[in-house]
Amino acid sequence: MKFDAPHFRDEAEALRYVEALRWPGGRVCPHCGTIGGEYATKREGRYRCGSKGCRKDFTVKTGTVMESSHIKLTVWLMAFYLMAASKKGMSAHQLHRSLDVTYKTAWFLAHRIRAAMATGGLTSPMGGPGGIVEADETYFGKVDVPSDRNTRGRKFRRAKHGRGPANKRAVLALVERGGNVRSFHIPSADKKTVQDIVLENVHPETRLHTDESRLYGGLENKLGSHETVKHSAGEYARGDVNTNSAEGYFSVFKRGMKGTYQHCAEKHLHRYLAEFDFRHNTRTKLGFSDAARAKLAVQGAEGKRLTYRRTHGA
Ligand SMILES: [Zn+2]
Repeated sequence: MKFDAPHFRDEAEALRYVEALRWPGGRVCPHCGTIGGEYATKREGRYRCGSKGCRKDFTVKTGTVMESSHIKLTVWLMAFYLMAASKKGMSAHQLHRSLDVTYKTAWFLAHRIRAAMATGGLTSPMGGPGGIVEADETYFGKVDVPSDRNTRGRKFRRAKHGRGPANKRAVLALVERGGNVRSFHIPSADKKTVQDIVLENVHPETRLHTDESRLYGGLENKLGSHETVKHSAGEYARGDVNTNSAEGYFSVFKRGMKGTYQHCAEKHLHRYLAEFDFRHNTRTKLGFSDAARAKLAVQGAEGKRLTYRRTHGA
């Protein structure tokens, strides 16, 4: 990986680059929201808010996942780039080697960048009149604390294997045909959990495509249509009905989790999913270059710090 662009090599350039991304219309005080009312201080990149009653100092890192770290901006930008560009993700170990930083620093970078990639609010519904959304579930790994609240019994049983995927982590993915993915780590793949997520995220006039799993039964009455392919009978597509996009997403996710993130604690799983969603939703096929994807991740850095602190704990 080469880092020829000036913002990867020069701290002042990196500062200009991140400021332009974060504050295209002038610097905004992250403490009080005042725009363009700041004074420069003696330290480059540090400003003092000019607003009466605020007067607080800030930098481009304040209020972002980059806050309260002494890591150089050039290093942050390289880490953002590496994580955005590698399809299967990049582990703390790989970052540690590629960036020549300590493992501890690399771990910190990886987790914070993942938080920046997490989509904020899931705003507009997926699909729409005539639009297609595929829904599919997958199971992998083991739950950290096996209990009787697994996917056995009245919970979902995977017909193809003849038995329920007991004690496995369940993930549901909704993929808009030709568009974005939203994935969810679900405590158990039962009908209510799955259908609630589908109905919360999918526009009511959407065509829903799934396999023959009974988890989706009844949704035909609540959506535009519900069409299925019978995987158990070896049928993978009928006309334009298929779940290939969802399966493609899972295959990238599983390869990444196996090869790159071998030891992912279950409590972190939703963050890894957000990272894979982010890369899928900004994939090359949709016209995003590696650089453009990294830029978007840097812009997502704002406002994610609190989420990170809250879920990360001590
Ligand atoms: Zn202020």
